[in-house]
Amino acid sequence: MKPVDFELHRPETLSEAIALLAEHGEDGKVLAGGQSLVPLLNFRLARPEHLIDLGRIASLTAIRRTPQRLIIGAMVTHAQAERSVAVAQGAPLMARAFPHIAHQAIRARGTVGGSIAHGDPAAEMTAVAVALEAIMVAVGPRGTREIPARDFFIANLVTALDHDEVLTEVRIVPPAGPTGAAFEEVARRQGDFALVGAGAQVRLAQDGTIADIRICLTGVSATPHRALEAEAVLIGHAISPESTQTAADATRDVLNPSSDLHATADYRRDVAGTLVSRVVKTAVQRATFDTTSAA
Ligand SMILES: Cc1cc2nc3c(=O)[nH]c(=O)nc-3n(C[C@H](O)[C@H](O)[C@H](O)COP(=O)(O)OP(=O)(O)OC[C@H]3O[C@@H](n4cnc5c(N)ncnc54)[C@H](O)[C@@H]3O)c2cc1C
Repeated sequence: MKPVDFELHRPETLSEAIALLAEHGEDGKVLAGGQSLVPLLNFRLARPEHLIDLGRIASLTAIRRTPQRLIIGAMVTHAQAERSVAVAQGAPLMARAFPHIAHQAIRARGTVGGSIAHGDPAAEMTAVAVALEAIMVAVGPRGTREIPARDFFIANLVTALDHDEVLTEVRIVPPAGPTGAAFEEVARRQGDFALVGAGAQVRLAQDGTIADIRICLTGVSATPHRALEAEAVLIGHAISPESTQTAADATRDVLNPSSDLHATADYRRDVAGTLVSRVVKTAVQRATFDTTSAA
């Protein structure tokens, strides 16, 4: 199918984009990389009369690092962030997640901001944002809002963004100390959205115990899931086969995923526990290597 007719606007500045969104109200929609929106237009599941393309707004394409923050512009593509040293150092879990997003061609167009604004609980970036307690910055006619990830994802494909707001950047506090991260998924085919995905970012204390841990899951609930129960089992301890098994069991105990054509709820729950135990082990190994190489 082809989309219904629309008018394409290509503003050069953020204020022009916000003015266009305000002017066209519910008939206007932001276009980022188009990797989710264009299929929706083609299937006529979305029928905006005005598309406001953010592609010419240079201020949205930068990755910046300050001592306290990693700041990723909303129009930074997955491919750009995947290659960024600032992202690898400031958000190791995010860096590990990029290779799992679709295919290289889609990562070349799709954006970090687009992925987060779309709010798909099966997407890697939404889960990473929740685990890393990212702050989403939204700008609209009523000013600027900083929205913590825990309040941003409201339901499947529903976020706290108002229809006249633009997500401009994502802010993350970089880890302080030896840190390792890992992301793993089970998908039917390479490049598909995963049935279930899990990521972990671990910071170790001097004595090798876990000083900070963030674990997230995709595809198991209506919003991206942070596995707080597994984190609670592991924090403050050195990992062992028993502790990762307990963390896996704790994850399975609280999950209530849906069954669909692709996988049953029981399968998703079981895989989620297994992936949590795997990503924690790998993240700890990488953090240990980090400590050793720093010594
Ligand atoms: C075959 C295929 C496989 C894919 N596999 C995966 C996968 O495995 N994992 C994954 O995470 N994704 C996957 N994707 C989606 C891809 O990652 C997209 O890049 C991403 O979901 C949306 O980013 P985008 O920049 O293309 O946004 P768009 O498609 O342009 O926009 C998506 C939505 O967000 C809104 N939006 C975008 N940017 C902003 C902004 N700055 N402010 C306010 N609203 C905004 C748009 O209005 C629209 O509603 C896949 C896509 C395809 C086509």
